[in-house]
Amino acid sequence: MYFNPSRYTALGSALASPAEREHFPNAKLVLWHQQLADGLAWPWSAAGSLAFLAGEPDKSLVESVALAYSGHQFGQFNPSLGDGRAHLLAQLDTPLGWFDLQSKGSGATRFSRGGDGLCALGPAVREFVMSQAMAALGVPTTHCLGVISTGQMVYRQGAEQGAVVFRLATSHIRVGSFQYLALQQDEGALWQLLELAIKTHYPEIDATGSQRVLAFFKHVCERQVKLIIHWLRVGFIHGVMNTDNTLISGDTIDYGPCAMMEGYDLNTVFSSIDRNGRYAFGQQANIASWNCARLAECLIPLLGDDEQQAVTELSAVLAQFATQFHHEYEKMWCDKLGLMPDNATHQQLLVEFKTLLTEHKFDYTNTFAALTCLLANGHASPFALPVQLNDWCERWLAAIETQAALAIMRTSNPAIIPRNHLVEHFIAEAKQGRYEELEVWLKALSSPYHYEQLDSRYITPDPNAGAGYQTFCGT
Ligand code: AMP
Ligand code: MG
Ligand code: MG
Repeated sequence: MYFNPSRYTALGSALASPAEREHFPNAKLVLWHQQLADGLAWPWSAAGSLAFLAGEPDKSLVESVALAYSGHQFGQFNPSLGDGRAHLLAQLDTPLGWFDLQSKGSGATRFSRGGDGLCALGPAVREFVMSQAMAALGVPTTHCLGVISTGQMVYRQGAEQGAVVFRLATSHIRVGSFQYLALQQDEGALWQLLELAIKTHYPEIDATGSQRVLAFFKHVCERQVKLIIHWLRVGFIHGVMNTDNTLISGDTIDYGPCAMMEGYDLNTVFSSIDRNGRYAFGQQANIASWNCARLAECLIPLLGDDEQQAVTELSAVLAQFATQFHHEYEKMWCDKLGLMPDNATHQQLLVEFKTLLTEHKFDYTNTFAALTCLLANGHASPFALPVQLNDWCERWLAAIETQAALAIMRTSNPAIIPRNHLVEHFIAEAKQGRYEELEVWLKALSSPYHYEQLDSRYITPDPNAGAGYQTFCGT
């Protein structure tokens, strides 16, 4: 592995500008993802990394940059966003591939817009836990190598301990990055960004000219469909699906106000600022498609002089989003129940199951886990099957082919998810300087499809059923 200058600086000063991160002389390493460090062939031990992570001047190794981007936030276009509290430190060449290494909470930049450029410990712990859990769940995501506490306070509702998150992403190219260059009407830079995105994420595209642009857009849409299906499969609510939080790679980024759905309800919203439910659990596919439409708008100038023709072609690609989503969504439900899409009895069972789930708002994770356990172990299960499902369940057992169903259900239905009340509990513990139990939980979260020896603390739904639970952006 080696550190090398950012690929974004080659795109000109419009997109990347030098930004020096803060040095935190009293920093402590509080969380470290050793398994990830091993995979990356990270050159230092956890303790040996601290000087670099704390931003000691002679350990900076490279000139860091902040990236500019625009974005639609809750549907409103904001032309001048950017890394207001993040620094792109390096591009790493690792056994797992190339990664951007970014520090978040490492000081103000020219994009801070009056913000302090800092991050509190709570959100840093949330990002570490959630990204690790999501990766283990098989959801495409950015990763978190570690978290340092800075030894300095940051001021939000009250005084909070400061922290810096070290994030790895296959790239930080966002829909908002394209929006930024499209707004500048900088066609040359747009082409360069497109080529960088293709080289990094879609090297299989070999078409040229307009077909190249359309193929790129098609691939991005497909990855977004896959991403949303994963979110829906595990009950993840992103909470702030702004176009600046949508990566071209199709990985999950920005764990600010995210949460997990407990009782099944498509209208579930936890983010305190999402008052109209724009980013509700069941809205996420619509929003991803809307975000893709915003990307399409940026690509129009790359499709030649006939704007109408360009719009027609991009719209045709975008129309496939809904078709693909519905196909994959149907398959997702079938997989979670071990059903066959083309079997009429199975289809009827699926419809009835969805009705019961919707009506009774059963715990999403534990209901599927209970059914999975039922196939695996008979009735010896730590997950209780709701009584209202008894009748349905008998007919389901009679209709499915047990071994085939079990095989697909075991990889579709996690036994353990990062439940909201536990995230909050361990954030509170971290604020007291206690990380031991969190490490034990993280270990359990790293094998979410492992149904043996489950710790009941990790699979019990929130005793308050999530009543009044709220999450916050930008804290
Ligand atoms: P987010 O809601 O996390 O996607 O952030 C939206 C924008 O606000 C991004 O441009 C962030 O860099 C910026 N931002 C969020 N928090 C801060 C902060 N504490 N200081 C400076 N900029 C921030
Ligand atoms: Mg963001
Ligand atoms: Mg955020």
